Amino acid sequence: MKNSKNSIPEDVYVGYIRSLFQDVGVLPLGALCYALIAVLLYYKTGQVAQLLLGPLMLVAGIWRYFKITRVDHALISDYASALAWERRYLWWGSMHGVVVGAFGFVSIFWGNDSFAELAAVSAILCGTITIAGRNYGSRKMVSVLTLTIVFPIALALMMKGDIYHFILGMFIAPFMLVVMKMAELVRTVLFTAISEEKRSTRLAQRFDRALNTMPHGLLMLNNEERVVVSNAQAAEMLGFRSSEQMLGRTLKSLLMRGVASGLLSQRDYAYAEEHLSKALREGRDRKVLLSMTNGRHFEFAAREGHDEVGVLTFEEVTSRVEAEEKIRFMARYDSLTSLPNRAYFHEKVTEAMAAGDQDRLCGLAVLDLDDFKSVNDTLGHPVGDGLIYAMAERLSAFGSDNVRISRFGGDEFMIFFNQVDSEAAFSAQFDEIFGALRGEVDVAGHAMRLQASGGAVVVSVRDGDVDSMIVKADLALYKAKELGKNGWRLFETEMDVAFRNRQIMKADLRSAIEARNLRVVYQPIVDARTMRIASCEALCRWDHPELGLVSPSVFIPLAEEMGLISEISSVVLDAACKECAKWPEQIGVSVNLSAKDFRSSDVVNKVRSALQAADISPNRLEIEVTETALLNDTEATIAYIRTLKGLGVRIALDDFGTGYSSLSYLHTLPLDKVKIDGSFVANLKEGQRSLYLLQGVVDLSRKLGLAVTVEGVERFDQLKLLESFVKPDLLQGFLFGPALTASGIETMAEMKQPVVTKARAGRNRLSL
Ligand code: C2E
Ligand code: CA
Ligand code: CA
Repeated sequence: MKNSKNSIPEDVYVGYIRSLFQDVGVLPLGALCYALIAVLLYYKTGQVAQLLLGPLMLVAGIWRYFKITRVDHALISDYASALAWERRYLWWGSMHGVVVGAFGFVSIFWGNDSFAELAAVSAILCGTITIAGRNYGSRKMVSVLTLTIVFPIALALMMKGDIYHFILGMFIAPFMLVVMKMAELVRTVLFTAISEEKRSTRLAQRFDRALNTMPHGLLMLNNEERVVVSNAQAAEMLGFRSSEQMLGRTLKSLLMRGVASGLLSQRDYAYAEEHLSKALREGRDRKVLLSMTNGRHFEFAAREGHDEVGVLTFEEVTSRVEAEEKIRFMARYDSLTSLPNRAYFHEKVTEAMAAGDQDRLCGLAVLDLDDFKSVNDTLGHPVGDGLIYAMAERLSAFGSDNVRISRFGGDEFMIFFNQVDSEAAFSAQFDEIFGALRGEVDVAGHAMRLQASGGAVVVSVRDGDVDSMIVKADLALYKAKELGKNGWRLFETEMDVAFRNRQIMKADLRSAIEARNLRVVYQPIVDARTMRIASCEALCRWDHPELGLVSPSVFIPLAEEMGLISEISSVVLDAACKECAKWPEQIGVSVNLSAKDFRSSDVVNKVRSALQAADISPNRLEIEVTETALLNDTEATIAYIRTLKGLGVRIALDDFGTGYSSLSYLHTLPLDKVKIDGSFVANLKEGQRSLYLLQGVVDLSRKLGLAVTVEGVERFDQLKLLESFVKPDLLQGFLFGPALTASGIETMAEMKQPVVTKARAGRNRLSL
């Protein structure tokens, strides 16, 4: 704020007025001098006025001195008080000035003595010097003092009466102006200095604020790499109590202090030293990441400053680094077991194989939990996870630089052996691992058995690569599963051939399905009481152009694997309903649906449209499902089956006795029939366990209101045993005929089983 009169800021004006009250020590001294000069003039000229003026000047000076020194500077605190104090100061000064002025006038005008004139002029002019020097703070005071002290001598000279004195007196006028101008000049110079200083203080304060409130740490280093500027953040981050503590230190000593206080490791010190100096030298936003032992991470950036000053800014990036590390970990490790995942394992094994002796042998093994799916399905995923975790835990005990373990996904684990002495040595080593995995584990209160199958391959590093090793180990695993699980196999070349054949067969199957090159045949199912055909089971056939007839036990699982099974189901459903429509009313048809068909609600539409297209009564159609289908996704599957039943379609549980066969859940499922697997019949003998078992199953099914079909009846003795002890409702098997073409069934339809009749007459065996 400026006051209008002086056009200087009020605070500067206050400062000026305050300056009036400082350094007044010369006042009494000056007053004493004037008094002595007056006394001297009295002796010289005998002028009595001098006797009066001398003491008066002394008193006025001392009085003014005391008035001024008595003022407490703190009272001059704002513009208003400064104005008031300036008024008082003017008053005291004027009094003093008038007395001194009178002395000058009297000495010159009435003295009539050239010494008196000389003494008065020199005394007054000497005193005048202090006017500007002491009173520049108040322009008024300077004017008043000039007027009261200097003007009287000019007046006296001019009134002397001669031209010389008159001219001399005239010349005093410019001198008075000079005095006032001088005071003005001092004020201006001072004002500029003060405002400059104020500006730079303000700048420094702002700079300081900016420096200490910025989130980054900042260090400015001179060309000796010594800190010239630092901020509070820098001090906090680098473990200093204040930023001043860092000043003058070299970058190297800052880092060394970090090492001494344990904040920086020796290794990181070397890294930091090298890279920070380099960054400082090269400037241009080079970034250096430093990790402290306390888990904090800082990112330094170097920027070139002016005048060879380097600037290092740094920020804490701990959360970013931690997030990055977490993401990196998540991308590399399996979240359940913390073992390396597939991608990372692949990367690491490729790396390991590229290094070291290329003539060495290495090994790769894959492990897969047996029947893991049923654990997941029956006990739930948390228990499944628990089992996988237990497996990972046992496996991890064997991990080393030479043995790398990975969870490959699902219930599959991979182990890489970087160096193997021989196949025999590998087998011994893997046997040990495999043996250690098996056994009881407790998973969430369930006592479970850990059991796995494995496949492995040993190759020379030079000839192998990860992918081909994985394929080979997988083939060996496949073989091990085929051979009854709970064991492991080493890869053999024949497995590869089998695998390739499988691939070829898959391609062929795809074309066959696309070209609708599949046939459907029908196997009679006979009513046990009447020995007439009650219905037929539709069975799919594939005539391979080179391999001839391929068994559905081979191509159905292939189609399931390839995701093509529902297309086969559609073909068979449509054909079966269409053919059934041509058969006598009492003969129904059974169609096998795969577990995979029940993954989508499409299954219901398919059945509905097949029935509609053929225009047959829904109760002539029976759907055969296996236990696996029912166990897969119990709720959805059961809902679809209920809907199918709602349409009027009957449901049979196929292959009963081969799966997990728990009789207890039979009644919870919406079934009409149970089909007992042929394996029960195969070794049926009177008085033996197998017969009692079959009896038991049939009895229980009856009690649950289910009809029973026994499959795989091949011989007459089996039929006899079944008839006498088991009494199933329906019979199926080669004894009653193999699968025939649809028209074959039409022909047989009205016949009472001629073969059986013959067999009952004494023939024992039939051939397909
Ligand atoms: P499945 O459902 O148990 O069908 C009965 C199988 O037992 C048929 O084999 C049949 O030829 C055979 N068989 C019948 N009587 C006897 C006998 O007295 N002794 C012996 N040893 N076997 C007998 P097939 O046709 O080879 O079918 C094998 C399996 O393929 C079927 O078993 C069924 O699970 C599946 N399958 C066949 N056709 C289809 C289909 O269209 N869709 C689906 N999803 N699966 C099918
Ligand atoms: Ca069947
Ligand atoms: Ca069956």
